[in-house]
Amino acid sequence: MIILGIETSCDETSIAVLKDGKEVLSNNISSQIDIHKEYGGVVPEIASRHHIKNIATILEESLEEAKITMDDVDYIAVTYAPGLIGALLVGISFAKGLAYGHDIPLIPVHHIKAHIYGNFIEHNIELPCIALVVSGGHTNIVYIDEKHNFINLGATLDDAVGESYDKVARVMGIGYPGGPIVDKLYYKGNKEALKIPEPKVDGYDFSFSGIKTSVINAVNKARMKGEEFKPEDLSASFQEKVVDILCKKTLKAAQDKGVKQIVIAGGVAANSLLRSELSLRASKIGIKVNYPSMTYCTDNAAMIAEAAYYKLKYGKEPIFADLTLNGKATLDIMKD
Ligand code: ATP
Ligand code: MG
Ligand code: FE
Repeated sequence: MIILGIETSCDETSIAVLKDGKEVLSNNISSQIDIHKEYGGVVPEIASRHHIKNIATILEESLEEAKITMDDVDYIAVTYAPGLIGALLVGISFAKGLAYGHDIPLIPVHHIKAHIYGNFIEHNIELPCIALVVSGGHTNIVYIDEKHNFINLGATLDDAVGESYDKVARVMGIGYPGGPIVDKLYYKGNKEALKIPEPKVDGYDFSFSGIKTSVINAVNKARMKGEEFKPEDLSASFQEKVVDILCKKTLKAAQDKGVKQIVIAGGVAANSLLRSELSLRASKIGIKVNYPSMTYCTDNAAMIAEAAYYKLKYGKEPIFADLTLNGKATLDIMKD
């Protein structure tokens, strides 16, 4: 069974070919990071234009690399929510055209569910499990039962983790996107340099805006006094706090729900400290942690195709979309 995945929800244009849910025959990703770097964040209108410019070529390359033609495609999967609406519509329109032109069923996919399914490409994931979703726009703790029902247990009340990484990096002036840069600096700095208060948030919810503000205030204070600040020290203090909170809440959810499996999903799943720290703490209490390899952490179409594969098996009706399919900028994971 061949699924063609299409992803254009943000600033990556990606098309992938997935065979039988496990074998990624191609996964072409064209990132616009260098274009949006200049602005310190994604500019929606520019993102849409680049998707339009690139998408047909990316399809051609993906089919060629997978050594197939559109005649071999059984299903087309496309991200329809959540994301930048103009960016989503490029992928959706393109997918509809292909589906109509080649008479192939169209499967709409929820982008955050797909980030979670990024784990299922390479690993055998035991259900029920807890998923920690940490991406540019989302931070959630999700319970997934044996029948692939998604139940949201908690979410951020303000900033997403990835967003906080990008913002503190921007204020420190160390580059974009901030996540990978802060992650590297963590190992060169003093974790004790900045005391960051623990946010008081109950249950499985999160708050990151206070932590972000602690770093921003430290930078502003230094600048006002004409002093130097050390990005490595602030990065180390910031990442230490963020990862500690993510680990504590995720492990608490896993223990409360009695699950033996945790997965990390979304762009921040690429974070080296989060991977090692959560794995270490979980192993001490007999819980297994999996995370996707780097390409399947940030936006990619292989995870979109993978999510469609499981939607075919376990999804609620309607599985397929017709040509009236529309994009949605926001959509709760439980309403997909
Ligand atoms: P969403 O999936 O919520 O719609 P998005 O698609 O823009 O948002 P992703 O592509 O999943 O987000 O992830 C991008 C984010 O991941 C950025 O905020 C980036 O800084 C962060 N990130 C990437 N690598 C790392 C890392 N090593 N450590 C921390 N954050 C990272
Ligand atoms: Mg991106
Ligand atoms: Fe994403």
